Amino acid sequence: MVDGLIAKSLNEALEALDNKEYQIVAGGTDMLIQNRSHSGMNIDYKKDVLYINLIDELDFIKVDEKNLYIGANTRLETILESKLVPQILRDVVIEMASPGIRHTATLAGNIGNASPAGDSLVVLYLLDCELEIKSLTKTRKVLLKDFITGVRKIALNKNELITKLIIPKINLTDCYFHKVGPRLSDAISKLSFACGYSVENSIIKDLRVAFGAVYVTVVRSREVEGKFIGQSVNDLKANLDDIINAYEPLIKPIDDQRSNRVYRKNVAINLLREFIENIKED
Ligand SMILES: Cc1cc2nc3c(=O)[nH]c(=O)nc-3n(C[C@H](O)[C@H](O)[C@H](O)COP(=O)(O)OP(=O)(O)OC[C@H]3O[C@@H](n4cnc5c(N)ncnc54)[C@H](O)[C@@H]3O)c2cc1C
Repeated sequence: MVDGLIAKSLNEALEALDNKEYQIVAGGTDMLIQNRSHSGMNIDYKKDVLYINLIDELDFIKVDEKNLYIGANTRLETILESKLVPQILRDVVIEMASPGIRHTATLAGNIGNASPAGDSLVVLYLLDCELEIKSLTKTRKVLLKDFITGVRKIALNKNELITKLIIPKINLTDCYFHKVGPRLSDAISKLSFACGYSVENSIIKDLRVAFGAVYVTVVRSREVEGKFIGQSVNDLKANLDDIINAYEPLIKPIDDQRSNRVYRKNVAINLLREFIENIKED
């Protein structure tokens, strides 16, 4: 028989984690599915459970001159309604699950779940999201790309909690997110794609591309992006095959119940091609 603790403050949660190993549960929308019992009646948690979704101090959206800060407990529906949140992140959230799930689910939960098909991850990688992680005695920051280490693998110690997402403010000429799923809502992605650029005097000043569900973690390569930053828009388009060839070996999807590797790879490359073809000169 497992125990449950409903933490009412961050300190209470961190003290609990310092004393004992818990399964952290925020909105519970992934945890309830992963721990469902065969009877469908009781949730079959394997470890004691620490519910954190009533910790109000982790429920906020704030900005300063450099960053946007989203508390770990902020519900997807709150993020969707906030004008402080960049449009591309709201565009992802509106495509995640359904209103009922968005009423309780969190971005920290999407990150903690570390699924290659986690929709928000693609855009959070694109935006260089950082996480604040706390234990009772220590606060640290880590880039999301370094935090997710594999399928359902995260670099979180047993005594730690994600407390906030830190998203740098950036100025892109254009950016967008594209989810490829079996239907428009309540669908898990077959693959996803996020991209953005900025152009000054017809020169590419920033170029970002991220692919979801085509590898064990989100694919974003600063190295590849760097090769094309500094080119003119015309050169980039004229040498479209160069950028496609640079990404091609990084896109290594699998066959599963939602799609197959050939479809995923072709669509990912087509989305990249479409993005580059539609970059506008300023
Ligand atoms: C019907 C349905 C549809 C869905 N559709 C989508 C979809 O379209 N796209 C998509 O990406 N996902 C989808 N999901 C998955 C899920 O809703 C999301 O991943 C959601 O963001 C999880 O958030 P949560 O707060 O409910 O996480 P939880 O289930 O509470 O937790 C998930 C994981 O994160 C960890 N965690 C949570 N908060 C913290 C924290 N503060 N610190 C450390 N670890 C933490 C937990 O320990 C757990 O391992 C769907 C789920 C369902 C049931």
